[in-house]
Amino acid sequence: MPRVFKYNDQVFQDPGEEWSVEDIKKSLAQTFPEIAQATVNEKTLDDGTVEVTFVKRSGTKGMQDPPLKTTGRKHNHAEAFCLMRYTCERCQHSEIYWNSRDGVTPFMCRCPACEEGNMVHSNWRQDQYAPDHIPTPGQGVWIDMPESLRRPVAAGRVKSFDGSEYELQGDERTDMIKHLTDAMFHPGEPWLIHWPGRNEEP
Ligand SMILES: [Zn+2]
Repeated sequence: MPRVFKYNDQVFQDPGEEWSVEDIKKSLAQTFPEIAQATVNEKTLDDGTVEVTFVKRSGTKGMQDPPLKTTGRKHNHAEAFCLMRYTCERCQHSEIYWNSRDGVTPFMCRCPACEEGNMVHSNWRQDQYAPDHIPTPGQGVWIDMPESLRRPVAAGRVKSFDGSEYELQGDERTDMIKHLTDAMFHPGEPWLIHWPGRNEEP
């Protein structure tokens, strides 16, 4: 079931169904501490998307609100063309990814170092606007998910349920892959690549 997460006027991409609402709340609280005390409201939209809204408790009103998305840069997304730091909650591994387009980025993703922790977009107020950035070899770069990858990603989602009670067979499986390919992905869905090439270092 596709989900969307909201806090104040910000919308956060679902990093994947393997993350529970509680995981996401915890991770977002690193950037917005007041979320730790927030109430969680869930509602299902007409298209089946589950909208999860974190509502600040009134007692924490005095706390600083995040700045609104007024970039003054004529982009639709505050993080357009920004260098963004992601840090692992578990092993503290940290990398700077570049957002190569005016599009959304996930606030967390899987840590490539320990492979168990979540890399959370940290210190996002210090994102650096860098439209002319040239990625360094191996640097993480957010791009729009290529059309051609939608199907394998959808099939991978379905496969991840194999061996559980949600495992699908035959037509049901084919239909679900088709459904996810069509419905779950939106234009501009973020996808992380690593810039090709090798470092000069030996
Ligand atoms: Zn890690």
